[in-house]
Amino acid sequence: MSAVLVWAELTEGRLKKPSLEALTAGRRWADALGLPLWAVIISDKVPEGIPATLGEYGADKVIKVLAPEFASFSPNAYARALAAVLREKNISYALLPQTYDGRAIAPMLSIWAEAALLSGIVTVPEKTENGFTAKRIAYSNKGIEWVSSSHLPLIATLKANSIVPAKSPRAIEEEDFPFKPSEEDVRLRVVRVEKIAADKVPLTEAEIVVSGGRGLKGPENWGIVEELAKVLGAATACSKPVADVGWRPHHEHVGQTGIQISPNLYVAIGISGAIQHLAGVASSKTIVVINNDPEAPFFKAADYGIVGDAFDVVPRLTEAIRRYKEQHAH
Ligand SMILES: Cc1cc2nc3c(=O)[nH]c(=O)nc-3n(C[C@H](O)[C@H](O)[C@H](O)COP(=O)(O)OP(=O)(O)OC[C@H]3O[C@@H](n4cnc5c(N)ncnc54)[C@H](O)[C@@H]3O)c2cc1C
Repeated sequence: MSAVLVWAELTEGRLKKPSLEALTAGRRWADALGLPLWAVIISDKVPEGIPATLGEYGADKVIKVLAPEFASFSPNAYARALAAVLREKNISYALLPQTYDGRAIAPMLSIWAEAALLSGIVTVPEKTENGFTAKRIAYSNKGIEWVSSSHLPLIATLKANSIVPAKSPRAIEEEDFPFKPSEEDVRLRVVRVEKIAADKVPLTEAEIVVSGGRGLKGPENWGIVEELAKVLGAATACSKPVADVGWRPHHEHVGQTGIQISPNLYVAIGISGAIQHLAGVASSKTIVVINNDPEAPFFKAADYGIVGDAFDVVPRLTEAIRRYKEQHAH
């Protein structure tokens, strides 16, 4: 018997949202195929509560690939371990979250498992006359493409924020999978992680992003962006020129040459909406634009637009949301 396999990525011993999204998609894929869903964790140990959470999000079984070498991320070693699981368990369908690490593993895994790879998909693969077909965002967010493969095994990576995590509780079974990575495999590994924005929601995972552009005039005015982000529980972002002149750190720059995001809500303040900026944010589910120029191109891509001075509109919006939250706190 085979299964749909999901790589459950652990970050500091936790399952982050992209893994829960992949499990949710994996559960739907498995149901459509009439197969069980297996999650695989690769680590030096199993953090407490992880198998239970995997079961909560639909996994029937967790395969544990444990070795001291897996204490830190090593793309080659992780891909080798997954390839071994696929081969030995005769797995035809595998799904990985399209995180930095998922993206690093997937191409190697596809080669070593002799599998097809559909990368960055935003829907659960569906059986069609062309094999399995899924949707993905293309041409820097200006189009959608349907990608298919009739080759098995089939691996896919799921773009973050494309599927809402949903619980589907199972009594989870646990299985150890003995695997020792070679020295050659672990020669490339993460040796140190330095956090630059430890207290904030990471941009790529954020459901809400508040972003500022050159219209904010200077770094001293970013308080209004941060206050709005705080009441919304949002991450902050910026346009490219803002990062280029050093008003904001480069890791906040979104767009064609920056980070590409698709949050549920994107609030753009004092950003004109140049095509290169839109390339990184246009697939956001809802876009709110605040700009004092009614002709700003961003309004064409907006679901809601406020024509007004950011220094007047944003503090009032923040206050209104704060009041609303207080009134609806219970
Ligand atoms: C190859 C290439 C790649 C690029 N990649 C990127 C990218 O990845 N990301 C990116 O962002 N850009 C990118 N750019 C740059 C892009 O073309 C634009 O120049 C940039 O996005 C403009 O940034 P902005 O909207 O913050 O500034 P501006 O274009 O200067 O717009 C500022 C906006 O603020 C408004 N405004 C001014 N005052 C106020 C106020 N008081 N209240 C409210 N609104 C106000 C103005 O009406 C204006 O619309 C790229 C360009 C090239 C050529």
